[in-house]
Amino acid sequence: MPDEPSPTVSSGIELPLAGGRLTIDLGALVANYRLLAQLSAPAQALAVVKADAYGLGIEPVVNALWNAGCRRFFVALPEEGFRVRKAAPEAGIMVLSGLFGVDAAAAFVEARLIPVLNSQTDIAIWEAHGWDGDVPRPCVIHVDTGMNRLGLTLEAARAFAEENALTRALTPVMIMSHLACGDDSGHPMNRRQLELFQELRAIFPGIESSLANSAGVFLTKDFHFEATRPGIALYGGNPSAAGNNPMRPVVTAEARILQVRQAKTGTAVSYGASQILTRDSLIAIASVGYADGYHRSASGAGVPLRHGGTRGAAGFLHGRRVPVVGRVTMDLTMFDVTELGPGAVGPGDFIEIFGPNMPIDDVAKAAGTISYELLTSIGRRYHRTYVGTA
Ligand SMILES: *Cc1c(COP(=O)(O)O)cnc(C)c1O
Repeated sequence: MPDEPSPTVSSGIELPLAGGRLTIDLGALVANYRLLAQLSAPAQALAVVKADAYGLGIEPVVNALWNAGCRRFFVALPEEGFRVRKAAPEAGIMVLSGLFGVDAAAAFVEARLIPVLNSQTDIAIWEAHGWDGDVPRPCVIHVDTGMNRLGLTLEAARAFAEENALTRALTPVMIMSHLACGDDSGHPMNRRQLELFQELRAIFPGIESSLANSAGVFLTKDFHFEATRPGIALYGGNPSAAGNNPMRPVVTAEARILQVRQAKTGTAVSYGASQILTRDSLIAIASVGYADGYHRSASGAGVPLRHGGTRGAAGFLHGRRVPVVGRVTMDLTMFDVTELGPGAVGPGDFIEIFGPNMPIDDVAKAAGTISYELLTSIGRRYHRTYVGTA
């Protein structure tokens, strides 16, 4: 494929000029896809690549997954659908956030995007402006079974099904709903949504059905139906809120150490002087901050930026976890490297912010958030490298 962009692309920022480096392992991504496909079988695993493939880069991710056999992709926005269309001209592309009104319908036609219809308005627009492929005006029907986010009510879906059986104006190629609590396997909400989804299936007999996101793949088989929609697990996030992460880490974020300083007990670190050192310390200053998506809420222990008692994030340096100390700032974060001993760390070393040694879910938790937000917040200042394709 000479016209395809090489998967080994960089952001254009040279490493000597960058504060950090981001390594994206497409081999691990593909291994995760294969595991999810295997767990989903006989259902098909379709890839969710919205939000720039959770921050990893939609083009290299789609290329790698296409080469691994994935043929259908979900995005959130039509604009993202255009990018997938360019990367994978033959792919099936489904747009989760719906039609965006009449003005956007032409774009769906041009790029042959399949809208996820979330309302009666969406349905009416697609009846008037859809494209015909092998089937007339293909669409996905999304029904809300317990989130009050997007989707038709079950009653509206039933009314649509009855009418469409007569008019055949649209061809629903899939019905879907979304789990609110899939990451908590014991939550009663899962069963309730499953039951409502079964009712929906009875309304649309014989149509491909999809309920499970990443977490849903790890619930019992009856959540899989014909198609699953994993996102976060592809990218290495833990699909369950509890328990070991079965996925391989895909992203490694590292920050350059700019300086190591000796700081006296009783002195303060960073803005607000809110963390006071309780011993003479070695403080490593790393070139990463909230402008790079390293959230300010990851600040050090005792810094009053979080609710609850979390201890602040840590990085991984020379075989050890070292805690953030003081507030994370826009461009810089301080780490307490006292335990590593004098001379062990110096300028030009790189500290792992998250990756194989510093699980992204741990960092996210320390920052009071989830891996999804950490990934989709990754900033543009990293030097990016894609590895792991044959
Ligand atoms: C984002 C999204 C997914 C993927 O969810 P993960 O938890 O990342 O696997 C699946 N379905 C819908 C409707 C989504 O919005």
